[in-house]
Amino acid sequence: MKRLLKLPLLLILAIPGLVYAFPQSNPVPGGIVLLPLNNNHIADSARYKKKKLAVVSDDKNHYLLIGLSLSSKPGTHTISIKNKQGKSEKLSFKVTDKTYKAQYLTIKNKRKVNPYKKDMSRILSEKKRKTMAKKNWLNEPPQADFTVPVDGRISSIFGLRRFFNEQARRPHSGLDIAAPQGTPIKAVESGTVTEAGDFFFSGNMVYLDHGQGLISLYAHMHTINVKVGDKISKGQIIGTVGETGRVTGPHLHLAIIANQTTVDPLLFLPQLSNKAEEYYKSN
Ligand SMILES: [Zn+2]
Repeated sequence: MKRLLKLPLLLILAIPGLVYAFPQSNPVPGGIVLLPLNNNHIADSARYKKKKLAVVSDDKNHYLLIGLSLSSKPGTHTISIKNKQGKSEKLSFKVTDKTYKAQYLTIKNKRKVNPYKKDMSRILSEKKRKTMAKKNWLNEPPQADFTVPVDGRISSIFGLRRFFNEQARRPHSGLDIAAPQGTPIKAVESGTVTEAGDFFFSGNMVYLDHGQGLISLYAHMHTINVKVGDKISKGQIIGTVGETGRVTGPHLHLAIIANQTTVDPLLFLPQLSNKAEEYYKSN
């Protein structure tokens, strides 16, 4: 059973001859779907659950990039799009089920699991900032040839159902790469910094907006080298690995957002397939 569950991701990541890191479709909860567009489609009219979608392009085609939430139901899903004759069309795709494993973590700083009453106003205002950053829309098509942000071991994967000090919390929203404090963090793609600061749970965090709602987020940083409004090029150092916020040790937490939905970062980083396999073998 354990092996079967792992198979779809590994199959996708193991495609030979993959020259560059184009996002990989995986239509499961927490996954992404790439729907090819034709010349008659008006890309910026596309909506999935009323949210606008990014368009990504390889050397042959343009695709709508659809982020699927962890709560997506298996079955047929549709997006609406207008054509050049002004008519509405429906494009559909199938979502298949995926079960994520549970992960149990012990956090020494109990306040990060059960915040004090006086922490709540800070947590609420940070939640608003996160929502704003997530909803941001820069109307320029994103580049989506992601580079690996930190060289290190994968210490946790996206979607795990999490328990901190035996209490259920939200599923893991990113990919964790363990590396010593001070290790440089590179921007996965070019983009604009839309949020940066010290957050209660996420520690020092940066949001990098790549355009049309495709966003990468870097958490638990030791230092932040950039500020809101900065234009960043792919591979540029934006800060260093740390252990700020709710953590068990130094690592980068990388999250990827598409259409305001947090999705599996490994689908954007197929070059990490060997490291993902190492993770699966030992977990
Ligand atoms: Zn994480």
